[in-house]
Amino acid sequence: MEREKLEKFEFESEVKQLLHILVYSLYKNKEIFLRELISNAVDALNKIKFEILINKDIEDKDEALRIDISLNRTQNKLIIEDTGIGMTRDELIKNLGTIAHSGTSNFLKKLSESKEEEKIDFIGKFGVGFYSSFMVAKEIHVYTKSFKKGSKAFLWRSKGDADYTIEETIKKIRGTRIELLLKKDEKEFLEKFTIKHTILKHSKFIPFPIYVEKDKIETSEAIWTQPKSTLKKEDYYGFYKFLGNTQEEPETYIHLSSDAPVQFNAIFFVPKTSFESAGFFKTEPGVDLYSKKILIQKGCKDIIPEYLRFVKGVIDSEDIPINISRETIQNNIKIDKIKKHSLKKIFQQLTKIKEKDREKYLNIWKNFAKNLKEGIAYDFENREKISDLLLFHSSKKSKKDFIDLKEYLDRAGEKQKEIFYVTGLDIESIEKNPALEAFRKKDIEVLYLNDPLDEIVIDHLREYKGKIFKMAESADIKIDKEKDGGKDENYLKDNENLILYLKTIYGERIADVKISKRLVDSPCILSHPNDGPSVQMEKIMKMVNKDYKFSKKIFEINPENKLIKNMVRIHKATPDSPELKAISLQLLDNMMLREGIIDNIDTIIPRIQDIMLQACKNIK
Ligand code: ADP
Repeated sequence: MEREKLEKFEFESEVKQLLHILVYSLYKNKEIFLRELISNAVDALNKIKFEILINKDIEDKDEALRIDISLNRTQNKLIIEDTGIGMTRDELIKNLGTIAHSGTSNFLKKLSESKEEEKIDFIGKFGVGFYSSFMVAKEIHVYTKSFKKGSKAFLWRSKGDADYTIEETIKKIRGTRIELLLKKDEKEFLEKFTIKHTILKHSKFIPFPIYVEKDKIETSEAIWTQPKSTLKKEDYYGFYKFLGNTQEEPETYIHLSSDAPVQFNAIFFVPKTSFESAGFFKTEPGVDLYSKKILIQKGCKDIIPEYLRFVKGVIDSEDIPINISRETIQNNIKIDKIKKHSLKKIFQQLTKIKEKDREKYLNIWKNFAKNLKEGIAYDFENREKISDLLLFHSSKKSKKDFIDLKEYLDRAGEKQKEIFYVTGLDIESIEKNPALEAFRKKDIEVLYLNDPLDEIVIDHLREYKGKIFKMAESADIKIDKEKDGGKDENYLKDNENLILYLKTIYGERIADVKISKRLVDSPCILSHPNDGPSVQMEKIMKMVNKDYKFSKKIFEINPENKLIKNMVRIHKATPDSPELKAISLQLLDNMMLREGIIDNIDTIIPRIQDIMLQACKNIK
């Protein structure tokens, strides 16, 4: 039979960009290429271990599962070989010619802008490790043969520039052999000592035998099955680094062992940083499901839900059958029990950190607040537990500080039936919201929601420990001013007249005009007629649907304010004063500008200029 000829392919443009970054901007920590190749070999071995158990038709079924590293000093070659699943021709093209990851172009942009020390970690976490070998190799040859019965072997070759070739080859045993033709300056990777040292540093937890020039390296296997008492913090940290392809230590970890009602061991980690919150790429679910040390699903969303995708770790249960399918995982009672117990422990740990080590928790919050807020929306069952973890800015704290809901209730006391909040884009503008005046006067705390997600959170929660959330603008908060009886009838009448006047001038633009019981200093405020969405939320709706119409607000005036007093005076003397009309219209537009819901900007500027002209006339 004739062998397939050599074929030439061009790398996908994103791969070319990545290779360029790898080769021309990374000079330190190049050794991590080995960690990446070993991690790929481990993946391939994990997959075959699983296939062997469920599938009869496998090439070289009895071949030992192992990784071999050999060093050829005369040819400057480092060779790493595994007996994993191998790749077919099509898989070679897909896996080693493209980047199968959503958000790749954004990732590459951020990568090229990041500092050198960070780059390596980004690459490991994003998962494009194979290509990092081009940091040390001037040419790479990949010999591979798939586990599928009757597969041919193929050779993939590239110099890491624009293209690669594929041709048929001969390879006796299933798996992959990667030969790196090292660059002149990278000869240290031909030293057995360097290789052994690098493996122990980054890849100590390889669950398969690994040999360097026939010497077996002592690795630690499945630490999650070992008793907690025999493990030190360093063991967990090392395992995390191996698991996450990172040099970073975790923020915290949890080790669970349970025998009843379901047997399982698990280790979970919360990372110290988040690429997702830094806008890099969406984190892939990070908890892998094992059964008796056999990996049955990477990133198992059915146990650790999508919103907790930042949690890394492993779950291993003897009670889960190896051949469980995706569909049955979802409906398996044991899986459900593992899930309940695991989530309970994760939330407990986070709550404990929040209570005992605020600084640590603030870092977790900075990185994963978005995930927890997502959890409020999607995880009805754990909503209450997650709500204990939420933090908010508040009127009784400095701008940078946060409080939790428990703290709010403790301060509010039994009598207060609501949790008040105000929304806005940033703390500075929230603090200027006139709706807060009454709350300040009465010394009532208000939560400042400056993240658009907060309102979605409040919408789903509706209440916390029996107290309902209430928007400051729609809250019926009154300031106890001296009794209205103290004012004479004319005063009330004059104000009423101004109100009638404003109603005719504003017409359809507002729902009503009223005397405000909540303002202290400001002349006026727009309040919400009912518990409808906040302006922030309405703006989001408007973004989604151009035709969305903002709900009509109530225009409240403060008769104690100087400007309003003057307007009352002018109205009484000259009800048809054109200046009064301009001022009145401008006052409403000012409020709308404040809320960012203005639609008649073109009429505002000439009007302000007219008002300015009038003001000039009064200046000598
Ligand atoms: P990642 O491993 O994070 O997916 P890589 O760029 O390192 O990214 O590898 C791309 C893909 O190539 C892997 O997902 C895998 O499918 C395939 N691959 C790499 N190395 C091997 C190997 N030793 N055996 C089988 N497949 C491999």
